Amino acid sequence: MRPLKIIVLAKQVPDTRHVGPDAMKPDGTVNRGKLSTVFNPDDLHALELALNIKDRIPGTQVTILTMGPQKAADIIREGYYRGVDDGIMISDRRFGGADTLATSYTIVQAIKKIADYDLIVGGRQAIDGDTAQVGPQCADKLNIPQVTYVEEILEIKEDEIIARRRLETGVETVSAPYPVLMTVHGSSPDCRSRKAKKVMKYKYARTKTEMRKGDPVLEALHLKRPHLVIPEWSVEDINADVTKIGLAGSPTKVKSVSSIVLTATESKVLTDSDSDIEGMIKELIKHHTIG
Ligand SMILES: Cc1cc2nc3c(=O)[nH]c(=O)nc-3n(C[C@H](O)[C@H](O)[C@H](O)COP(=O)(O)OP(=O)(O)OC[C@H]3O[C@@H](n4cnc5c(N)ncnc54)[C@H](O)[C@@H]3O)c2cc1C
Repeated sequence: MRPLKIIVLAKQVPDTRHVGPDAMKPDGTVNRGKLSTVFNPDDLHALELALNIKDRIPGTQVTILTMGPQKAADIIREGYYRGVDDGIMISDRRFGGADTLATSYTIVQAIKKIADYDLIVGGRQAIDGDTAQVGPQCADKLNIPQVTYVEEILEIKEDEIIARRRLETGVETVSAPYPVLMTVHGSSPDCRSRKAKKVMKYKYARTKTEMRKGDPVLEALHLKRPHLVIPEWSVEDINADVTKIGLAGSPTKVKSVSSIVLTATESKVLTDSDSDIEGMIKELIKHHTIG
């Protein structure tokens, strides 16, 4: 089986478990500087799926790609620590405030620059925008097939790949020719942990913007070990149309974000008797909570 070239789309997201009052700026964009960030959970599953294929097909190359502010370089380092071969950071202030249309356009411009790939894997959805739109939008713009909600890769053949999808109503087995884009479901295997050797090898990996802080020791190290330089692509590097990126390229404006605080007005203690359970289900249907 020939080695595959895989691109993993991974996003750094606000840790939505700790969203404070200053999470949003007055212009409706996320105040990323104020929020602690994490690796988008579904993207860790996507990363594992790619690394699993790399284990199964020797010579397979895995590249992790992220679009975001400088802090998102952590995503690239995390990818290196877990076993990717390359990482690319798409970062430029002009990409800020992008909705899914502008985000997928920007990511696709970067993928077109990479050009040579067999498989693109991303998470089913990000925990901040929660739209699950970026993956399918990228596939559409690249005019390649898409398989969403992937749970497992069943078979890898020379000219097609066979995957199992996790749907609300069960599972589905799908085959697709290369190149193909897949979005990965959270029911797929968890991502392997960091490898100590990889952490030692890549902990000083930095983008040129991060290097601007001027650390002579780090600069000398980067000259000696070019694998520590994280490629950083700007608007010009990906030949992007400035009217299609960032806030300018985003028809969707997030008006405001507010935390939903559930206030229980009353509570009931039920026994496990049929009548109690039946009564509860009837009430949930009546209030359109279920059904
Ligand atoms: C509360 C909130 C609501 C929003 N609502 C909308 C909305 O309704 N419509 C809209 O267009 N935008 C919306 N946005 C903006 C949206 O979050 C951003 O456009 C975002 O970059 C992409 O959308 P998403 O977070 O829904 O990602 P999803 O579409 O859920 O992401 C799916 C997958 O795409 C890949 N991906 C997504 N972003 C990146 C990235 N930056 N780098 C690398 N891979 C990536 C990842 O693999 C990810 O798992 C919202 C933002 C917030 C904070």
